[in-house]
Amino acid sequence: MKIVLHDKEFEPFIKEVAIQNRINAMAEELSDEYRNKTPLFISMLNGAFWFTADLLKQFNGDCEISFVKFKSYSGMESSGEISQSIGLDTDINGRDIIILEDIIDTGKTLAVFLEVLKKYAPASVKIVTLLLKPDALLHDIKADYIGFEIPSDFIVGYGLDYDGLGRNYRDIYVVKK
Ligand code: 5GP
Repeated sequence: MKIVLHDKEFEPFIKEVAIQNRINAMAEELSDEYRNKTPLFISMLNGAFWFTADLLKQFNGDCEISFVKFKSYSGMESSGEISQSIGLDTDINGRDIIILEDIIDTGKTLAVFLEVLKKYAPASVKIVTLLLKPDALLHDIKADYIGFEIPSDFIVGYGLDYDGLGRNYRDIYVVKK
């Protein structure tokens, strides 16, 4: 069923069950890869809060979690300006870092964050994203785990918003053209 948020209509795109199945598979692969390690997950707020919770519930093994908050979107446009408003509160020197992103669009947010991370000399850094828009990518970023590759259309739901609304929907919706 379609939903209306502010001035836009959105139609169903990825159903909750498909999202959960994909996340479970990613969590299993990550649990294997990080067996005998204690990775530090770094979740990119706000959008990744739901993805982070669901993935971590399925991760087997010791791990830690920290959160950072960047802002790049205003309405349906990437603003091009990235500002960090919550910082890292954990020592990341020598740690195995797993970055959790809701969606990689132009890749600018991650490019900025990866530069910051480098200064702290982590042992390793992997990028896990639920969604990737390959055609929108402008930066040299390679995600190690990708939930779904999607077209460059604006989506909401499952943690993602349109001007504040839509984060609470369990499915992912795409803007109606
Ligand atoms: P990037 O820096 O890769 O261009 O953008 C990354 C951030 O922009 C994401 O973490 C997300 O917050 C936001 N974003 C990118 N594409 C979309 C989209 O289709 N829908 C929503 N709601 N946010 C998006």
